[in-house]
Amino acid sequence: MAERLYRGRRSNAAFSLKVAEERQCTIPACSRPTEVSEGTGLARYHCRYHIQHKSRHGSHWHPTYKASELRPYVQSAERWIMEHREDTTYRGTYWEMEHFMAGVGRVDPAMNLRGQSTAYRARVAFARLRAAEIPTRRLIAIYLGVAALIEDDFGSHRTREFRIVQAAKAVHRLSSGTHRKWDVWDPRTGGTRQAELHVYPRSSGHVLRKIGETLEAACDELARTAVPEVIAMRSERFGPHPSHPPVAKAF
Ligand SMILES: [Zn+2]
Repeated sequence: MAERLYRGRRSNAAFSLKVAEERQCTIPACSRPTEVSEGTGLARYHCRYHIQHKSRHGSHWHPTYKASELRPYVQSAERWIMEHREDTTYRGTYWEMEHFMAGVGRVDPAMNLRGQSTAYRARVAFARLRAAEIPTRRLIAIYLGVAALIEDDFGSHRTREFRIVQAAKAVHRLSSGTHRKWDVWDPRTGGTRQAELHVYPRSSGHVLRKIGETLEAACDELARTAVPEVIAMRSERFGPHPSHPPVAKAF
């Protein structure tokens, strides 16, 4: 094997690529061994680190978007919804989501989710949103905002999986975890200021995908119409996404 590898790398580019695929992660600049070659998993083309990255973020390489990157898109989606709330497609999406949310049941705060199915955990995540009185409109705006950001960002990972996982994560941030506020002494002013703690228990990759699939089932048809308009509204207000090449000025 060592002999074949040696000759392949030197003389035969195609063979060398094949060998590399089996032995080394295909993500650029990653030199870790693939799961298969390491014997730690089933992935033939990626290392363990990048497999776990995909499970958490929905992409082997793209990180989860920051709330600040997503915000202008969600705001624009909210504005789009206000202008189109009587449209048939929006009404259909809204009632489908409402109907689903009405059926998710209640949340017991002391509920132990260990050992429960993915579908059950995803339902609990939606039940938390309902208990936190997050309006259905907001959930739709987040899905549209995430879809628009991925479409508008030239450096994004434009796959269905990235979209649904990112939408699920953004929705999940709204409701989960412990949120505490308390006063601390501020030496600069001599008075007190408020400190905040937000703890979000992590949802597993499977649960995130289930949450994302549910949002997609209700919102994807609407997204086809709305996304280009949401992007246009966002660009008008905040300028083009930073990934866009600068437009040459005409004199
Ligand atoms: Zn890797």
